[in-house]
Formats: sequence, C-alpha cells, structure tokens
Amino acid sequence: MPADSSSTKAKGYAPLDAPGAGINSAPSQPKKVAYFYDSDVGNYAYNAGHPMKPHRIRMAHSLIMNYGLYRQLEIYRAKPASKYEMTQFHTDEYVDFLQRVTPDNMDNFMKEQGRYNVGDDCPVFDGLFEFCGISAGGSMEGAARLNRGKCDIAVNWAGGLHHAKKSEASGFCYINDIVLGILELLRFHPRVLYIDIDVHHGDGVEEAFYSTDRVMTVSFHKYGEYFPGTGELRDIGVGAGKYYSINFPLRDGIDDNSYKGIFEPTIGWVMEYYKPTAVVLQCGGDSLSGDRLGCFNLSMRGHANCVQFVKSFGLPTLILGGGGYTMRNVARTWAYETGQLVGVEMGPDLPFTDYYEYYSPDFELDVKPSNMDNANSMEYLEKIKAQVLENLKRTTQHAPSVQMQEVPREPMGMNASGPDGEPETLDEREDRLDDEEADAEASKDKRYTQRLWDKKTECAGDLEDSDDEEIAEANGVRQQPGQRRRRIGDYQNPHAPPVESGANSPVEDSRSVNGDAEDAMDEDAAPSNNPANGANAAAGGNDSTKPSATGTVDSQLGEAKEAETKEALESTDEMQVDTADAAQAAEKQVHSETESQAKASSRSPTNRPIATEAGKEAAAAGEDVTMTEDVAEEKAAEKESGAVERDVENVKGEATTEAAV
Ligand SMILES: [Zn+2]
Repeated sequence: MPADSSSTKAKGYAPLDAPGAGINSAPSQPKKVAYFYDSDVGNYAYNAGHPMKPHRIRMAHSLIMNYGLYRQLEIYRAKPASKYEMTQFHTDEYVDFLQRVTPDNMDNFMKEQGRYNVGDDCPVFDGLFEFCGISAGGSMEGAARLNRGKCDIAVNWAGGLHHAKKSEASGFCYINDIVLGILELLRFHPRVLYIDIDVHHGDGVEEAFYSTDRVMTVSFHKYGEYFPGTGELRDIGVGAGKYYSINFPLRDGIDDNSYKGIFEPTIGWVMEYYKPTAVVLQCGGDSLSGDRLGCFNLSMRGHANCVQFVKSFGLPTLILGGGGYTMRNVARTWAYETGQLVGVEMGPDLPFTDYYEYYSPDFELDVKPSNMDNANSMEYLEKIKAQVLENLKRTTQHAPSVQMQEVPREPMGMNASGPDGEPETLDEREDRLDDEEADAEASKDKRYTQRLWDKKTECAGDLEDSDDEEIAEANGVRQQPGQRRRRIGDYQNPHAPPVESGANSPVEDSRSVNGDAEDAMDEDAAPSNNPANGANAAAGGNDSTKPSATGTVDSQLGEAKEAETKEALESTDEMQVDTADAAQAAEKQVHSETESQAKASSRSPTNRPIATEAGKEAAAAGEDVTMTEDVAEEKAAEKESGAVERDVENVKGEATTEAAV
C-alpha cells in the first residue's frame, strides 16, 4: 500500500510494511487458530435504523468462508454463555433484567430501563439475551481453549463489546464478553494484556480491572467531545492497578503511519515491561476510515497491522470484534485480519457471496483511507508516547502482585471441582476434559437442551432503589457526579460516505423485520438472496414487530446451503471440526434446533458446565454432550452458581476494592 496515501501531518512515521515483508510477512511457524461463529448471530437486530448491525458478522464470515480460510481454521460454534456465567462479572439483577425484558413487556420495566441504561443506544430488541449469550459464549470458550493450549489464537468477531458495565448497558453493549473472557484467562494466566483499537475508549474493560495489576488495559481512542468521554492520558489505574491502565487519547483523522508509529512502540514497551502471558485484542472496526460513527482514517491494512503486530509476539491471543458501523468495511477488514492470523495473503478480488452487492462498486478487499485531515501532530503523539513510557517504567517499582508466583492452580472465576462435586487437580481436570472431548467426537446427535429459566426469575419490584447507589459506587471509579450520560449515537462521522448513512432513517426501515433493511444500505444494491431478508420473509413478511429468531432456521438453511454450494465441501481431515464438516454440521444444527424450537418458542440459554470447552467440537456440530438431561443441568447450575458467586467475589473484590481511591 502506498506510504503516502493519507494525510501526512506526521511525516516522520514509517509507512506500513509492504505485504509479505517485515512484520506482515507470513509467519514461519503456523499458528493454530480457533474461530468461533454462531450462524444465528446475523439474525439478531437492534432497532430499525440502529447503527449496530450484527449482520456484519455474517458478512465477514461469508467472506472468510468463501476465501477458503476454513482450510486453516478450526471452526466452532460456542455454547451461549449462561446467565450464571454472565454473573461472574455482571450483577444478578442486571442479568435477570436482560433475560426477562422483551419488546412486548418492556413497558413494565420502565424503572429498570432507566437504571440499567437500556433505551436509546441500547434498545430492547427481540432475542437480546440470546445475542448477548452468543457474543459472550464465543469469547469465553475462546479463552478456555487458549487456557488449555488447544489453540494459539482464538477469534470471536461477535465479541468485543467493551462498553458494557457491571450493571449497566452502554454504547450498544449489554454484556461485557471481554471481561468475561479475561476472567476466564485469569484462571490460568497471571497477567493478561488487553488492547483496544476501537475508535471509542474501552471503558467497560478498563473499569472492571482498574484496580488490579493482573490485567493491563491499553486503549487507543478518540478523546474529546466524544463517546464515552473517558480515557484521558492521566487515567492510569488505582491501588494495585496504578500504572496498569494505559490510555492513548487521539484526535480525528489518525492515519496508518501515525497509528503504527504509536501502536508498535507502545505495545512493544508493554510487552517488555508487563510481560503478559496472554493477550486480548479488541479489533473494533469503527477506527476504519469512513466509519459511520468513527472519525479515524485507518485503512484496512493499517488496522490489520495492529493485529499482525500483536500476533508477532506469539502469545496466546484472543481476537475480538467490537464497534464498526460501515458494514462492508468491517466485514472486509475482519475477513482480511482472519487471513492475516492464519498467514494467508488474500487476493484483492472478493469472492462471490450472498452479500456481494454490498461491496459495490469496486468489489475489492480493501478499505482505503480518505483525504481527511490528521489532527494528530507528530509532536502531540510523541508527547503522549513519552508519558506512556514513563508510566510503564513505574510498574517496575512494584512488580505485579503475582509476577513471581506460580500460575494459579485453581480457577479464579469458577469452581474447582469436577462434575461430581469432588475437588480435582488440574491434571485430573485436563484428563476429564480430554475425555469429554473424545466423547463429544463420538456422539454428534444432540444439541441444546431446554431450560426453563423463567422459574427462577424475581419480581421486578424486588429490586430496590438503593441498589443504584451501591452499583454506582462499585462501578463509579471515574463517573463524574452530575454528568449526563453521553450517547454513542450522538457522534456521527461527517466524513462517512453517504451510501449507508444516508439511507438509514428509521422510517424507511420500518418494513424490515430485522430493522436494518441493511440500512438500506444499500437498499438498491441489497441482494435479493440476502438470507437476512429471507429470514425476514419467513418470519412473518412485513410485520416489523416479529422476532427475528423465528427466521433463524430458514436463515441457517440458507447458510448451510451456501456452504454446500461453495467449494467448502472438500474435507480437510485433521481439523476437529472444520468447515468441510461445517456444512453438514450446519444441517445438523438446523435439524436439532428445529426440534428444540418446536419444543419452545425461543432457544433458552444452555447452562454450560464448568468445563466450558468440553464438547466444544460437539457444540460446533450441534450437540450438548456433557449435560443432556435437564436434571443434570439443574444440578450443575445450582452447584455452579454457588461456586461462581463465591469465587467471583475474589476477582471482583480485587478489581473494585480500590474504586474509591
Ligand atoms: Zn466503538
């Protein structure tokens, strides 16, 4: 890519490496990359006209598959995170609310909506809780798989929802899959590095770990008159976490070279000083040029350079999605980054997919920078860099609390006992998990069993007002009294191309079940064979109030068919569940889910046993191996919930005790 293709206020920074050279060269040693995708995810939709469109994940997936990357990936469908798993970070009351509220009953939850910031930016939509479960399930299983050394890199483009707070939705995020994934990593890793290249500050993750040195958070983001309003350079953490939060505030229009010029040195120093044992990288696509809400000027390659650079350290790494509101560019970039992760340089011509028309007019795998001004002078950036380095040096004055300790032998966030309730050693646990995996391989017929969560729900009136203060106190490390909540949607990018934003008024979308009509994206270009549209039709034609979940099966059939019709059908043996099987697996999923949907109107979250990744292959193939009986699930849930509450206290205590400092 041309080095001078973007604004050059910061002329001194080196250009990106040419493809195939430098840090971007294909790795000599192949990495095992686990990729998490749930074919339901694209069917969920925020309200009509809402900028956040889960469909972009399906678009990215479609590119990934049709570029043939499945040959290098191990593809899994994670079990959705259970309610209990979510409460490892979030409050019971908040998760309860998310599970219970629907567009039909939301009027009965007015008070809770205010309390939990559900409304404008974070609307109630059909399948909200399931969507959260999918997002969080992928990140948690990715982390669990990394923990066990089953992969080197785990990818979950449905994750990365960094704004969600302990008991508050924010910035299109409800459940913080990142915090949950990091908690999972902390069971095995003494130090986890979190890096955030979304255009918005990674506030939810920072806040969760603000007072611990077990997690270092590093966020590069637009700062100043922008959402969420936090993330100043001087916000460095508190208590034991002091100097373990890093914020790199940026101005509009940062380009590839400048970004590389700050990202690589900063992360290099962090690696040197902090010596993380695992990394989580949030790859929000709203830092790309032309994003509907973003204001940066990164090209696809500039964005991907960060992924490649992080990968070059060879640490267990969890790669997550995040923001990104110009769908076609997000899909391109995440597909390209998936290719980078597996060491495949993808050609410029996009393969034909169901969403081909979205990529008009060039149909190329590229996101080019614009000619917008770069308001980040080199002087400014160097000044911030120098201060960041100064702060990092101070971490050595008191080493991380666990640096010299062994890796925790017992899980931090969950229970340490086996399925029978007896304590088990780590080795025993490994053996059991391996056995369960083998079992999973051997029987691929069943999938989710149903649970009746409703029985456990509390009355809405049980929630007390005083909770608000407590929650605010626990969470309010940096919240300024009297400050109005900012809304992420209030900050639009005037430089974004009109094609998506212009055609996006809520009015004209009202006929779309999914509320997006693909943002009319491209309404003209919107493909008639768009499975989302097909799902809409199947879900009830023009009735805009129908839940999209009912369209799931049809859409999955579409997906399975898509996979079949592409070359994806050749088998690539070694992979435990590869995409070659994925087409068949998808069929199985469709079948089994059709059955389960016949039993219940919507898919209940399956309680994942403590061995979160056990039966993962099976999960990908559409079954539930370890807990097939409702009774067993009940027991596991009870057991787990108790243990979770206990253990989570530890983690939470660590993370919040310094909140008042
Ligand atoms: Zn964002």
